[in-house]
Amino acid sequence: MEDCREGASVSAACPICAAPMEASPRYPRAVCLACHARAVDETGRRVTFFNESFSGGLAGVYVDTREPYRLSLCFIDGVRCEAQEAHMGGVVIQALSLDMTGD
Ligand SMILES: [Zn+2]
Repeated sequence: MEDCREGASVSAACPICAAPMEASPRYPRAVCLACHARAVDETGRRVTFFNESFSGGLAGVYVDTREPYRLSLCFIDGVRCEAQEAHMGGVVIQALSLDMTGD
């Protein structure tokens, strides 16, 4: 019975804050927009990501100084995440590991 299969819901939860969000088969670990806004580098400085141009490309900057941030790695609430250019444009940030809570 496909329509009552567990774990195949059309809605999903943000892997960081558990906010309900639309499921994305392409980006199953994508975080919500509120979590995008909390992304920091490994030292805790706020970073943000955007498309370099209309044709795409991922670029990052530090929010405070607008210096370029050259990594796609970031942290949200202590969870290691990676930013990438989204398939349809824009930026998606996905959580890389969720099993650090007991560390
Ligand atoms: Zn979130």
